[in-house]
Amino acid sequence: MGKVIGIDLGTTNSCVSVVENDAPVIVPTSSGNRTTPSIVAFAKNGERLVGEAAKRQAVTNPDRTICSVKRHMGTNWSTRIDGTEYKPQTISAMILMQLKKEAEDFLGEPVTEAVITVPAYFNDIQRQATKDAGKIAGLTVKRIINEPTSAALSYGLDHGEARKVMVYDLGGGTFDVSIIEIGDGVIEVLATAGDNHLGGDDFDARVADWLVKSFKAEQHIDLSRDFAAMQRIREAAEQAKKELSTSESTNIVLPYLTQAKGEPVHLDMTLTRAKFNELVRDLVERTADPVQRALSDAGISTAQLDRVLLVGGSTRVPAVQDKVRALTGKEPSKNINPDECVAQGAAILGSTLQGRGLVAAGTGQELLLLDVTPLSLSIETVGGVATKLVDRNSTLPTRYSQIFSTAAPYQTSVEIHVLQGERPMARDNKTIGKFKLKGIRRAPAGVPQIEVTFDIDANGILKVSAKDLDTGKEQSITITASDRMSEDEIQKAIFDAQMYAGQDTLRRDALEVTGEAQRLLNRTQQALKEKGKEMDKAQKKQIKNDCNALQKRLSRFRADKVTEEELEGIRQAKAQLEASSADLTS
Ligand code: AMP
Repeated sequence: MGKVIGIDLGTTNSCVSVVENDAPVIVPTSSGNRTTPSIVAFAKNGERLVGEAAKRQAVTNPDRTICSVKRHMGTNWSTRIDGTEYKPQTISAMILMQLKKEAEDFLGEPVTEAVITVPAYFNDIQRQATKDAGKIAGLTVKRIINEPTSAALSYGLDHGEARKVMVYDLGGGTFDVSIIEIGDGVIEVLATAGDNHLGGDDFDARVADWLVKSFKAEQHIDLSRDFAAMQRIREAAEQAKKELSTSESTNIVLPYLTQAKGEPVHLDMTLTRAKFNELVRDLVERTADPVQRALSDAGISTAQLDRVLLVGGSTRVPAVQDKVRALTGKEPSKNINPDECVAQGAAILGSTLQGRGLVAAGTGQELLLLDVTPLSLSIETVGGVATKLVDRNSTLPTRYSQIFSTAAPYQTSVEIHVLQGERPMARDNKTIGKFKLKGIRRAPAGVPQIEVTFDIDANGILKVSAKDLDTGKEQSITITASDRMSEDEIQKAIFDAQMYAGQDTLRRDALEVTGEAQRLLNRTQQALKEKGKEMDKAQKKQIKNDCNALQKRLSRFRADKVTEEELEGIRQAKAQLEASSADLTS
């Protein structure tokens, strides 16, 4: 049985961990880093790049580089590149495939199963989209787990005693706060709250904005529509932000950023931590409300908190740490790595699910994980009211049924409109599905009895069913949200991903072989120039012919269209030239 890997599929960076010798270790990337940028790019020659390679070329290829796709998960966002339409699930799958491959290289065995983490605030559609991305990447997703729970899991195993812990997780694109009780082999999430659209990317945007405005004031040049300049500005903004986590001030220098009247114009500015704090103050402040909400839902005061854990790269910002201190009156724990603990917790859960017998340290008990629903679930009833069936922060898995009736006389079908959110009116909540229960016996309003059941599994994924108690008719229902992928679409995407994986290998081989062939050709032509005169005529002619044949094949070569036959042809022509020119080039 292969190992189950734990994947923190982050907005900005992703991280993979796997349990080895009873402890979670981080899977390094091929270049030795511990996280992989969550970036996918399509190079001009058709090659697909993921992670570090994609990030390196982002500045020069911004319109074919996709960053922060996690922000689009569960929406109908898509992008078209070279005539192919890509959805968030497909792009995420490309990142997952890369992580899978790195884990396989590290372990030296195939990897087919994973636990993937998502922000606690992700709704059903976003969770399902994440699961679908895993499926497309060729992974069986054993569990979708909330990031803070995962962080607590990595922490919980190191510290066995019972504690109430707040996990404050501010990443690149999302903010989550959870109150978790750890103890006696049970990790129970008491409450969770957050903001799906708040993170370090917003800090970067504020700094980038400030740079653009200051540059305009100084140079009277508007950079906001200059795509390439903006890409460099955004990168520099992030870099400056990171530097300000340890320095009081930073210099931002971007030489040759743009041109004015044919002359190059450079950017050279200084940003202080005080100014940065001012730029992001309201963003940091936005984390206060979810913190209060989570505490009140958990029914505890800050005095009852034993620990505060910081997770996510953005918690390195000093102003964020100050805010956490102010909100909780506690010094946040420093002994977990905010970039790695989420993946580690997922690896621990993966190993536990596989029955590898991991137990909470010091307790000798199997680990039990109790997660909660992040938002309330309701259905729309008469007058557009959202009637709650499952309250937010209910422990998972959960199931709840309620009897409803018809609103109009002789109604033979009812529409079940499933909603997620805390607002009293249906229209103010998010629609996550709609379906019809048909064939209800004709009766006056209020007579039919329709039992609606919400069933949420351990992954937080919701199934809704409706049953007419009179006829016993039960509608088998799948939630169809327009932005959720259909099974057909998923199957097609899996097929494409597999096709692409094969093509990737072919492309990589082809680029390698053609590179070698081109070098051989250059070497041979140079040698012909230098020593050609002393050579035997027939041999010289043979080498020239072989050079021409190889040259012809290379000039027809295109990495994104190459076939096995073409590659074989190049290999043969190269071997032929190697043989005929052996004396000349040795
Ligand atoms: P995550 O999604 O947890 O990987 O967090 C990524 C976010 O953390 C990005 O916005 C990064 O720019 C930010 N980040 C990483 N390191 C630092 C740092 N030293 N100071 C401030 N922000 C950071």
